[in-house]
Amino acid sequence: MGRIVRAISKDASVVCSAIDGKDIVEEIERVHKSSAVVTAALGRLSMGTSLLGFGMKGEDDKITVKIEGGGPAGQLIAVADSYGNVKADVMQPVVELPPNAIGKLDVAGAVGTDGAITVIKDLGLKEPYVGQVPLVSGEIAEDITAYLAQSEQVPSVCALGVLVNSDLTVKNAGGFLIQVLPFASDEVITQIEKNIQAMQSVTALMENGRTTDEIALMALDGLEPNVLDDFKVDYRCDCSRERTERVLISLGSKELNDIIDDGKDIDIKCHFCGKHYSFTPDEVRSLISESKE
Ligand SMILES: [Zn+2]
Repeated sequence: MGRIVRAISKDASVVCSAIDGKDIVEEIERVHKSSAVVTAALGRLSMGTSLLGFGMKGEDDKITVKIEGGGPAGQLIAVADSYGNVKADVMQPVVELPPNAIGKLDVAGAVGTDGAITVIKDLGLKEPYVGQVPLVSGEIAEDITAYLAQSEQVPSVCALGVLVNSDLTVKNAGGFLIQVLPFASDEVITQIEKNIQAMQSVTALMENGRTTDEIALMALDGLEPNVLDDFKVDYRCDCSRERTERVLISLGSKELNDIIDDGKDIDIKCHFCGKHYSFTPDEVRSLISESKE
């Protein structure tokens, strides 16, 4: 289980959510059998999406973050609920790249930098909210910050990190998101900047045994912060046989009749969790008659 802690400054003008996403990123590696750099990219995106989702108000709200940067990994996508539970998928899970100029996994190289970050928020309204901004670095945390600033007019600081062992297991993974509300004073903003400069990277802090609540409070140091929430979060897929049936029905009766004519069972795999759903031609036939009712 991962963990998200949310802390708030005493004057309630700054909120910081921090995540320990090691278990989530481990699950990403297990499901997608991804190479180290893709595990890092998809892990960062998943934790960032989880932090964004955690802030939503409605119980059934959903957020989808897509990154398309033209790199060898192709499109990356993560979907989170309002509790911060998240699932993710990537077009090309195995990409091998040399380390970048500072000796780290070259996430920007795998993701690409020529493209956009798209955020789709399903808040239970008629139309989902969609925001899109160009990628600034392909390193993901900065791209989320740019999205929040340009599309939602929320100044923020986002940091996301994944450390992968040489055997591709996850050493640690975490991140935080500081969001500054419109009424924050200049002193508060200066204090946040000072705190960020003094902090090590999230993965280094975690290596040194710092917990998520310590990291969230550290980011708001000097502002008399308090912990608001402390939640468990997970890599969680909400696929089901019923949903898969609906996807099949949406193919249309011509496509379904072709499947029936083939006379073989069809197997549909969920891209987010790897679960298989199998349908016999008879079952497909009854889906057609159901869809006509
Ligand atoms: Zn699934």
